[in-house]
Formats: sequence, C-alpha cells, structure tokens
Amino acid sequence: MVVPYKHEPFTDYTVEENKQKLFAALEQIESEFGKEYPLIIGGERIMTEDKIKVVNPANKNEVLGYVSKANKEIAEKAMQVADETFKDTWRKSDPTLRADILFRAAAIVRRRKYEFTAHLIKEGGKPWNEADADVAEGIDFLEYYGRQMLKIKDGVPVESRPIEYNQFHYIPLGVGLVISPWNFLFAIMAGTTVAAMVTGNTVLLKPASTTPIIAYKLMEVLEEAGMPAGVVNYIPGPGSEVGDYLVDHPRTRFVSFTGSREVGTRIFERAGKVQAGQVWLKRTIIEMGGKDTIVVDNEADLELAAQSIVQSAFGFSGQKCSACSRAVIHEDVYEQVKDRVVALTKELTVGNPADQSRNFMGPVIDQAAYDKIMSYIEIGKEEGQLLVGGEGDDSTGWFIKPTVFGDVDPKARIMQEEIFGPVVAMTKAKDFDEAIEIANNTEYGLTGAVITNNRQHLEQAREDFHVGNLYFNRGCTAAIVGYQPFGGFNMSGTDSKAGGPDYLIQHMQGKTTSEMF
Ligand code: GLU
Repeated sequence: MVVPYKHEPFTDYTVEENKQKLFAALEQIESEFGKEYPLIIGGERIMTEDKIKVVNPANKNEVLGYVSKANKEIAEKAMQVADETFKDTWRKSDPTLRADILFRAAAIVRRRKYEFTAHLIKEGGKPWNEADADVAEGIDFLEYYGRQMLKIKDGVPVESRPIEYNQFHYIPLGVGLVISPWNFLFAIMAGTTVAAMVTGNTVLLKPASTTPIIAYKLMEVLEEAGMPAGVVNYIPGPGSEVGDYLVDHPRTRFVSFTGSREVGTRIFERAGKVQAGQVWLKRTIIEMGGKDTIVVDNEADLELAAQSIVQSAFGFSGQKCSACSRAVIHEDVYEQVKDRVVALTKELTVGNPADQSRNFMGPVIDQAAYDKIMSYIEIGKEEGQLLVGGEGDDSTGWFIKPTVFGDVDPKARIMQEEIFGPVVAMTKAKDFDEAIEIANNTEYGLTGAVITNNRQHLEQAREDFHVGNLYFNRGCTAAIVGYQPFGGFNMSGTDSKAGGPDYLIQHMQGKTTSEMF
C-alpha cells in the first residue's frame, strides 16, 4: 500500500546545519558552471553546435551552462521517437509501474534536495525559501500524480443491465508537447511532464529557454527511476521554431503549456487548426497569466491585510501568475493599509539570493523582463502616485526594487495589464460591493484574496469573486499540490487545476466497452 499523500515540508534555514548544507550545495553547483548539456531523444544524448547560454539572473557573468538547441529536423526526429514509443510500448504499460517511477523519482529528488534548491537559486534567481518551495512542490507533483494514477487506473464504475457488462476506462491520448515556464522552473516543469507521462502518453519536453538545465536534471532523475528511453524526450529550443513546428505537427495529440498569455493564445489558435493528415482534434491544457487582487474590507485585520499584500506582491519578485498586483481597499481603512504596506515594503531587501545576507527579493529573470517591468513603472508614474520603489539596476543582474503605486484608477493600465514583476497598484472602493466589482473587472481570473471578518462578505465573495483560486484571510499565492488545486478562469487559461483530482484525466480519453452475455 502506498502511504497517504502529504505535502513535502519546507526547510528551515534558521537551523545552522540546513544553512551550511545549502552553502555546500551552492558551491557544488558553481563547480558545474560552464558545462555543456545535450538533448535527449530516445535515451540518446545529442550535442548540437548551436547552444542556449544559460546565465544567473543575479549575476550575468555567471554562465551556468550551454544547452544544446533543437531545431525543426531534431524536433521531427523527437516526434518520430515519441510516436513510436507510444504505439509500441508505453500506451500499454502498466499504470502501477508508471506510478512507481514517479514515487522513486520523488525519493531521488528528496535525497538531492539541497542540490536542486541551490540550482534553482542560481538558474532562476530564486530566494532560498522560494527555491525550497519550488523543489518541494515538484516532489509533491510526483507523489500526488502517482497516487492519482493509481486511483483512476481501473476506470470508473458505470451501470449494467442484466446480461450486459459495461465498463468505462481512461486511456492515454498519444504524444504530448509540454512547454514549461521559467518561474516554477522545477515544479511546473516536472508536474506538467510527469502528469502527461504517468497517464501513458509520451512526451516532448520543451522547457523555457531561460531555464533549461533543471529540466535536464529531471531527465536524469526519471531515467534513474526507471523511465524507459523515448518516453520523455528533452528538446529545448526556440518557441518560434521548435514550439510552432510541434504545436502544428499532425502527430501532436495534445499540448500542455504554462506561460504568458501571448504565447498561450498563440498555441491555442495554432493547435485549433486541423493539419493535413491529422486525425484528431488536439487537446490543449493552457495556464496563462493573472491580474490578481487582494480585497481589504473595513472590518478586517489590517496588519494581516498589509502582510498578505506585501508577501503576495513581492515573493519571487512578483514573478508568479498568482502574484498580487492589485489591492482594492475599503476607503475607511485605505490610508492605514497603504501606510503599513509602504512601511513593510521599505523593509524588504533586494540582492543576490546566493549571498549570506539572505535578501527577501532576488532579480527578475532577464533583460526583456527587466525592460518590460521598468516601462510599466514609468506608465505607473503617470497613472498613480509612486509610494515606494520605482528603481532598477541592471548592471550586474536584473534587480528591481519592490514598487507600490497608490490612488490608481481601476481602469488604468497598471491595474489591468499583467506586469509579472514586483509592482503592486492600490485603489479605494466605497464599499464591499464595489470592491468585488473592481476585483472582477479584468480579463483574467486566476487568484484573489479577501481580508475581512465579515462572514456575509466572505460568502458574497465565494459566489461573486470570479477567480479559479480564491483565498480568505491570507495571501493569494502559494497553492499546495493536492490541497489547493490551481488554475484560472477567462484569460488565465483552461482552468486545468494542476495538483487537483481532475488534472490527470485531461491527459486521457474515456473509453466505454459494453459486452453482452
Ligand atoms: N501555483 C503557484 C502559486 O499558487 C503559481 C504558479 C505560477 O505562477 O505559474 O503561487
């Protein structure tokens, strides 16, 4: 019997021993700097001439490695291998064996936890606690999806009449293209990959080009755990070439994507076109952005409100689709909450997360992100009152101070458009009804939170605040696998609910068999 699922505990770095272990792991990661990484297709390592240079966003001079880059020809080869592996073996593989690979992989990552955490600090620019949480979440996905597969492997009971035996089972879809993001470079990359694979599909894994090395490490773990060659194929490369080619490919059965709205809608449109020779309608599982709001009522714990806004807005520099980028505050308490948010934000430190100093915030991911966020800060200066932050420094890494704007019109661009950086805009509402109305006035619908002690208002929000993940009296980030299934409405995506009980089924199709006796 598999023990019941329980989420992976976080590491306490105030314990000296844990801290020293992480410093040792950081040194180990540094000793691997500059390494060259191959693609992996059908278990074969393929080194290409053309490579992706992977740098530490906190220190551009640190080159983590050079990762081989796929192109159309290589993508085609990977597709053929994945297609054959699916048809020849994997679609009929034992679901219990597939789950066992995930359980063993979880154990291997747990053993290598400090190394993985250190790697995320360097490759993703994550502060220690964020990197630790990312690794923990990856382990959770492995443990949770393994168990979910065991639950659904025998199908779902359906009725039968006399002399008839009806059965209903889920079978795999085929070759899945997984395109994963850089923000949860381990957790979401691993979660989307293993969900596709444990359900009996073969996978083409194209990780984000900014953070491909951690995906190579996952490949090593899956191989060690017993995954046969050809089941997951590792093909980093440019979206415009490899991504488009495989999204369009007639043998692609489904696409699982997490990332920007721009790329997500592009994938959705392209996958919707039936190509010559294609004999199915492609499935898409798409998780995109958010413009997530924390609503603060007048009857509320105002300290909790300010803490929740600051944590949710600036954790991992606001680079979460769940991040709080808007605070809608009842006018009676607006000044108090605003002052406290500003005071708390001023206490936050920004710097290289690998340092002894343990800064609260690290860098943003790259130059393009830096430029985009800084341009939104300029827009914010026109649209509201800059209360704190507003400055950036891209000389060594891509650092931006946590930034708060006050008195912003709910229709302003910084209130409507996803910035994906450490910027939060605040606005007043005259009452709770208006606060919910403002909270719902974006094209997104991912996360939200309500801080109030008024039970009626909580129930009103439960009905009317239209987001996939709604939190009461806490921040709006940090969903836990198996506890808070994660995914959003409207332009936030297909609401596929990663880490939830329905997630795996989206990678499968139901088959009814009916036998007459
Ligand atoms: N699941 C994460 C959270 O709850 C966010 C995932 C994302 O940013 O893509 O904070």
